[in-house]
Amino acid sequence: MSRFLRSDFCHLDVYTPGEQPRDKSYIKLNTNESPFPPSPGVQKAAAEQAQSLQLYSDPECTALRQTAAKQYGLKAENIFCGNGSDEVLNFAFMAFCDASKGIAFPNISYGFYPVFGNLYGLDCTQIPLHEDFSIAPEDYLNLNKNIVLANPNAPTGMLLRVAQIRSILDANRGNVVIIDEAYIDFGGESCVPLIEEYDNLLVVQTFSKSRSLAGARLGFGFAQKAIIDDLNRVKYSTNPYNINRLTLAAGEAALNEQSYYDANCRIIMENRQWTTDALQALGFEVLPSAANFIFARTNQIDGEALYRALKEKGILVRHFSKEQISDFIRITIGTAQQMQALVDAIREILN
Ligand SMILES: *Cc1c(COP(=O)(O)O)cnc(C)c1O
Repeated sequence: MSRFLRSDFCHLDVYTPGEQPRDKSYIKLNTNESPFPPSPGVQKAAAEQAQSLQLYSDPECTALRQTAAKQYGLKAENIFCGNGSDEVLNFAFMAFCDASKGIAFPNISYGFYPVFGNLYGLDCTQIPLHEDFSIAPEDYLNLNKNIVLANPNAPTGMLLRVAQIRSILDANRGNVVIIDEAYIDFGGESCVPLIEEYDNLLVVQTFSKSRSLAGARLGFGFAQKAIIDDLNRVKYSTNPYNINRLTLAAGEAALNEQSYYDANCRIIMENRQWTTDALQALGFEVLPSAANFIFARTNQIDGEALYRALKEKGILVRHFSKEQISDFIRITIGTAQQMQALVDAIREILN
């Protein structure tokens, strides 16, 4: 750190992304990317746009928002585009949270929430998960704080029903409730239809998981117009051209090839069930997942040891050292072949 860094940034806890190793090629099951490449139209659209990169991108993301509006049954004014959903979350923290209005989230959830909270000096209330690792909606009523929930939650994969989220929205009409739906396409029910009814709801989605575009960086915010206007206020105060031309074209093409991604999600869900069954047969406890990953543990080997042993065999999974979940590993669901290799490797390690 230089001697010029502002003093309140000297002790920031930054977000630790999952490993993206370059030393050798791993079976990569650690950062919840899709094992499938983007659809053909995406590659074509991005290649075409590459010829116009001397020009700025459209700051209003008009074509992409109009295409999304059709697909989601919304108006374009209800849609915000972010450079990854992380940026949508960042802008939401900036727009809606300050010293007088802190934020609440589960103590086990997406690691970026406390990082943003810390960056903006917020009062963060971290609400413990229950013993079965579920989120209890009753814990989120009348908090007088903004709330952010990943649904399904990460890294547990566990899902709240829309009726449960509705109860949280009803009891927090004076606060923004952010529902982070990064994994909603793997079997969950989206809260997007609720935005008509709730002016305090912001739903966030990403192209990084179900739509095979983690490297393109694209996410959506869905809300009533007033909230979208607030996000734009922040965006136009920081980075108006936040989505580049290649990504705008790629995102629109992906929306136009939705059936390809739907089919991929069905494969991932089948492979999730197969992997869950196989690990349970090996004596693992696997939390019920509605995401493209599973969270599993066994009393035969500790989570970190299993992570290391798998890495030695060329398979990367994610381990979190936080005490309550340190005996688990999080495994991204890949192709059937990758999952077979994972289960074979775990069987060898346990023997
Ligand atoms: C992956 C993930 C994100 C971030 O996605 P990007 O769009 O790649 O920034 C946000 N929230 C959760 C819960 C995630 O798992």
